[in-house]
Amino acid sequence: MSYLSIKHVDKVYPNGFCAVKDFNLEVDQHDFVVIVGPSGCGKSTMLRMISGLESITEGEMILEDKKINQFSPKDRDIAMVFQNYALYPHMSVYDNIGFSLLVRKKNRRTVHEKVMNASKIVEISDDQLKRKPTQLSGGQRQRVALGRTIARDAKLFLMDEPLSNLDAKLRGDMRVEIIELWRKYNQTIIYVSHDQVEAMTMATKIVLMNNGVIEQVGAPNHVYNHPETLFAATFLGTPQINLIPGKIENGCFENEFFSISLPEYKNVTNPNVLLGIRSENVSIVKEKEDFKVEVDYVEYLGAKSIVHGMLGETTVAINTKEDVFDSKECKVKLNTSKIILFDVETSKAIRGDSNE
Ligand code: ATP
Repeated sequence: MSYLSIKHVDKVYPNGFCAVKDFNLEVDQHDFVVIVGPSGCGKSTMLRMISGLESITEGEMILEDKKINQFSPKDRDIAMVFQNYALYPHMSVYDNIGFSLLVRKKNRRTVHEKVMNASKIVEISDDQLKRKPTQLSGGQRQRVALGRTIARDAKLFLMDEPLSNLDAKLRGDMRVEIIELWRKYNQTIIYVSHDQVEAMTMATKIVLMNNGVIEQVGAPNHVYNHPETLFAATFLGTPQINLIPGKIENGCFENEFFSISLPEYKNVTNPNVLLGIRSENVSIVKEKEDFKVEVDYVEYLGAKSIVHGMLGETTVAINTKEDVFDSKECKVKLNTSKIILFDVETSKAIRGDSNE
């Protein structure tokens, strides 16, 4: 049995809108789950149902063998960090961190020890502990919110876009700190984000949502390399995966520009496909190319460049270390073992005969 088991959960709001449909997830102890997806797909609704701030319409939620559907938020032993920090403005930082412990009737000495320990972990100074939240920067406030969560010693830590109010540099730093805290203290975290980079860098398990349903669950590298749908393929990865339209017949992909042998796809029934290939699996070659790309522009990123080109009407991105600045045209070769075909009608990845 998993640590947290979410089975067939639906959320229908009082106005009749179904925000989450048949959500199933098994979370193991010490997992770092990132629920990711576009705005409005139901991420926060799902997190709020886990915390108890939102009721569950259908299904069940089991934490450590106990069904928690009807438990109030304070009886679930779950701590949550919000995007807007949700600190009490009239209280000092010290009291903000200790408040939830006092509410849980812990004695003053225990509260003091836990506040001091948590503030040490998230590097809040003694001087900052005396201030009010308004006298801190955004990054420092988020540290307080994290500290308050750590002081709780909860069974489960929920984080709803906790870094989205911070600037890019601070966000990167805090991301690393959260990962370090998680590694060091063995917590189980469910983290909501709309940012695929956060999901890829932090998660042990990505839950990709779209329109209230789960599109795919898996380790970041698995979802990245084996997307089950076009949505999953295009949501993860920058630049976006290349999608080249064509037909597959008798194990041969073909369009007006090139053909390529893909024997593992010889039994595909619907011939209309999109050939998906990520930019790092397209190489610039001097000869024996699969096709030529007309160069549109080159993004120089220091250690590498992204060449953006056209194959007829289709854009093609190539991740390369070659010097291609003056090129008008590039000869390219695809790493065929990394090709993923998508059925145009169903938008699902097609399983080749030798795929796992
Ligand atoms: P974002 O990334 O923008 O925060 P999200 O993925 O977290 O989005 P939710 O906040 O869970 O999305 O909302 C999911 C859907 O449910 C949205 O279409 C939203 O408008 C709708 N919704 C949220 N709260 C309510 C409510 N109280 N009543 C009706 N509909 C709601």
